[in-house]
Amino acid sequence: ARAVEIGARVRAAGLSVAGLCRTPFLVGTDAIDKVAVLDEAKAAVDMAAGLGAAVLTIVVGGVHPDTKGTAESLKIVADRVADLAPYAAERHVKLALEPLNPVYAGNRSCLTTVRDAVDICDAVNAANLGIAVDVYHVWWDSDLEAQLLRAGKDRIFGYHLCDWLADTRDVLLDRGMMGDGVADLKAIRARVEGAGYDGPCEVEIFSANTWWKRDPATVLDVMIERFRTFC
Ligand code: ZN
Repeated sequence: ARAVEIGARVRAAGLSVAGLCRTPFLVGTDAIDKVAVLDEAKAAVDMAAGLGAAVLTIVVGGVHPDTKGTAESLKIVADRVADLAPYAAERHVKLALEPLNPVYAGNRSCLTTVRDAVDICDAVNAANLGIAVDVYHVWWDSDLEAQLLRAGKDRIFGYHLCDWLADTRDVLLDRGMMGDGVADLKAIRARVEGAGYDGPCEVEIFSANTWWKRDPATVLDVMIERFRTFC
């Protein structure tokens, strides 16, 4: 109910909700019981629908208990996404699988490459299932261009911006402002848009010790300037 109210206030202010991030984990040590997992994921879909968010981002969760590597976990993800997709479609919510940087594979996302994300899209084959592309997670991937073309414009649902600091101190909360790191931001955007994406560029900078400590208005000014210069 609050989601509906928040969505209405956003629209009354002349804004829109680009997306809701994220679902609870679908696999991993905290996502064992399939029924409970799907109930929570459906609640996230309901929240996205209430907000009027076109896209719900899925962060899949880490390696499933009693398995090793990522292959078994990815199969479980595909199975659970297949169950969730029709529920989301009925509520006009698109689901975006977001592959995360491989440093998170153990406990946050056994899904680490755009290739694996598109593989799941192919396997599930639902019109409302696609991917979200986040610079932080894909900047190193030399196969990115080919995999984005494979995804195609109808399956790229989001593009997230920040930068990868060469000497990052914390892989979760030390993201860089665009231009401060080593990601080739213009090249990545050209690949994403070259594959047909024409949606928003969302700036997403988790930065506990730097940007979160600065004056928000100043951060916004820097963000806009960097977006125009480096992205
Ligand atoms: Zn992201």
